[in-house]
Order: sequence, then C-alpha cells, then structure tokens
Amino acid sequence: MNDDVAVEPLLSEWTARIQAGLGARGILRPRLVGIQTGGVLLAEHLARALSPDQPLGRLDISFYRDDHGQIGLHPKVLPSHLPWSIEGEHVLLVDDVLYTGRTIRAALNELFDWGRPASVQLAVLISRDGRELPIQADYVGRDLTIGAGRHIKLRAEPVLHLETIQIPER
Ligand code: 5GP
Ligand code: MG
Repeated sequence: MNDDVAVEPLLSEWTARIQAGLGARGILRPRLVGIQTGGVLLAEHLARALSPDQPLGRLDISFYRDDHGQIGLHPKVLPSHLPWSIEGEHVLLVDDVLYTGRTIRAALNELFDWGRPASVQLAVLISRDGRELPIQADYVGRDLTIGAGRHIKLRAEPVLHLETIQIPER
C-alpha cells in the first residue's frame, strides 16, 4: 500500500474531534502525555489547540526482546518526565500508531505509578489492525488494515505519507 494523506485536513479534523470530545466531558485543561517519539510530536501539535499554557508530559517506552525463548517484543518504560501531578487530573495520552496495544498497557502502568488520574483518554493518529489486548483509542485519525508483518512508515512533510513496508525476517 502506498497512500498519501494530506496532513493538514487529517490533523485538524482529529484535533477538532478531540477538542469536542473533551469539551463534551467538561475537561478544560487536559494533561497531555505523549509517548516518545512520534506521540510527543503529535502531543505538541495538540497542545497548541488544547492547552497552550502548560508543558507536556513524556513517556519513553522501548521495546526489548524477551530472552526466555518466547518470541515477541515487550514494551518497557524508560525514565519518564511528567512536569505536574496527575493525581485527580484528566490525562490525554497521545501516540502515533496503535497496534497490539502493549505500548499503551505499559504506558498506563507507568502513569498509575505517578498517581491516580481522574480519567485517561487515548488519542492516536493511526489505529491499525492486530490488537492483542482489549485497548482501543477514544480518538482515531485514521483506521488502517494492513495485516501482520508490515510496518506503516509515517512521514509528515509535505503531506502525511503512509507507506507499508515488509518487516524483514529475523
Ligand atoms: P503496540 O505496542 O500497540 O504494538 O505498538 C505501538 C507502538 O509501536 C507505537 O508507539 C508506535 O510508534 C509503534 N508502532 C507500531 N506499529 C507501527 C507501525 O506500523 N508504524 C509506525 N510508524 N509505528 C508503529
Ligand atoms: Mg512509538
């Protein structure tokens, strides 16, 4: 698949839907938390519309391969930077692509180590098929069905370029 998507309409439509969804729930000052690195760039974009006066939180999640024979990549949270307390706050978690759901599961675990938020919502620009956990996003820019063994390449300029490439066998 090769698919060029005009970035401005997609981002502005996604942003407007998030703004409306938060507004409908009476959330005026969401705590924005981006997942490094793609999620942070998108969270910076959202912050300009949603909460320009406060800094972003960042969660850094890396993947490591389990050593004990079972195949698979497991997300592991590296040191995170939340510049405010999340206790009792409404958090908007932001990532670029939602796939198996394991990154978001790890991000939620990490978040709750920092405190107990009043709510957590999830915004992803792309939701692809292949979920392995019961995790869905509240706000999706675009749904894609591409099957396993492929990877979506996101390039932001001048249009959002979506390309799926075959993942080489290890
Ligand atoms: P998951 O943990 O849900 O399997 O994967 C989500 C994380 O891996 C996200 O942080 C995202 O950046 C990255 N990811 C997973 N699949 C893709 C993909 O096809 N393309 C890109 N660009 N990132 C992906
Ligand atoms: Mg990522």
